[in-house]
Amino acid sequence: MSITPTLPTGFAAGVAPDMIDIHTHILPEKLPKWKERFGYGGFIELDHHAHCRARMIRDDGKFFREVESNCWDPKARIAECDRHGVSCQVLSTVPVMFSYWAKAQHAHDVSRFLNDHIAGVVRANPGRFEGLATLPMQDPDLACRELERAVKDLGLKGIEIGSHIRGEGFDWNLDEPQVLEVLAEAERLGACVFVHPWDMMGESSMPRYWLPWLVGMPAEISRAICSMMFGGVFERFPRLRVAFAHGGGAFPSTLGRIQHGFESRPDLCAVNTRKSPIEQRHSFYLDTLVHDPAVLSHLIEVFGAERLALGTDYPFPLGEAVPGELVRSLSTLTSSQRERILSGTAREWLEGA
Ligand SMILES: [Zn+2]
Repeated sequence: MSITPTLPTGFAAGVAPDMIDIHTHILPEKLPKWKERFGYGGFIELDHHAHCRARMIRDDGKFFREVESNCWDPKARIAECDRHGVSCQVLSTVPVMFSYWAKAQHAHDVSRFLNDHIAGVVRANPGRFEGLATLPMQDPDLACRELERAVKDLGLKGIEIGSHIRGEGFDWNLDEPQVLEVLAEAERLGACVFVHPWDMMGESSMPRYWLPWLVGMPAEISRAICSMMFGGVFERFPRLRVAFAHGGGAFPSTLGRIQHGFESRPDLCAVNTRKSPIEQRHSFYLDTLVHDPAVLSHLIEVFGAERLALGTDYPFPLGEAVPGELVRSLSTLTSSQRERILSGTAREWLEGA
């Protein structure tokens, strides 16, 4: 086991909560001017307009998000982790950086840059961070090459991929052959997979009220889970360790409907798998980012504590501000269930059983 949690300061020996957060995002402090380098735009730049603050701005001037130094500064992150008793954060890039829409060789360059950065942060702070790579998924050969480099050369534990892969002239769900090539390589290398919503369905028709984040993201994760289940992906790659963000989004609360669809229209739903959604619900992991104790209790009941791992979306505003607070709020949990959700599941997902 290579994860060796450091005792957070402020906690006496032996009583420190061991928490591994599988869902956190990081950016390098400085991003290259990709537009100048590649000759076309659409990439994110960082405008450090104030002390410890920056704006993420697309190179056509469109504002994306304001971030603080904890988005790029490992020291600021570790200080917050220590305050909350988080022993280890699993780092992944911000999905707006995926660049699946760009030319493949350029997405490859962006991926290598981001992955080198994440690996550097992990190396410089042993035990406090693990890392996930981003890949140029629009080109399976390049993606597999970068996956192998990320795992073997950089020591990253796995990959973060979008809930679907879309670019110029293609839009692949996660059961498409091009995606399966990469997932096969991930299984071969023992790399875990984190599926994060991005490029939300319906975004252009519901721009107000933050609906892409509040409505689109939960739908995106259900799309990803259903595509993989009905596509037979979990049967085809039984050793692949996949975790989905946001507690599985809309999937858990519509599992009954999805199961009913599988039973009533096998001609549509059971073409590539004979295993029902209920049977497949233990084939993957979910993070705990649901903001509601009743929903988390439901997840534990349906999927089991052994399938749930702490995830906070640190350092972003839709995340859990006090990591582990929701899990600890469930008084019905046994201590072994609590430990499993706060760190045990993450270890299994990162390292294998
Ligand atoms: Zn996130």
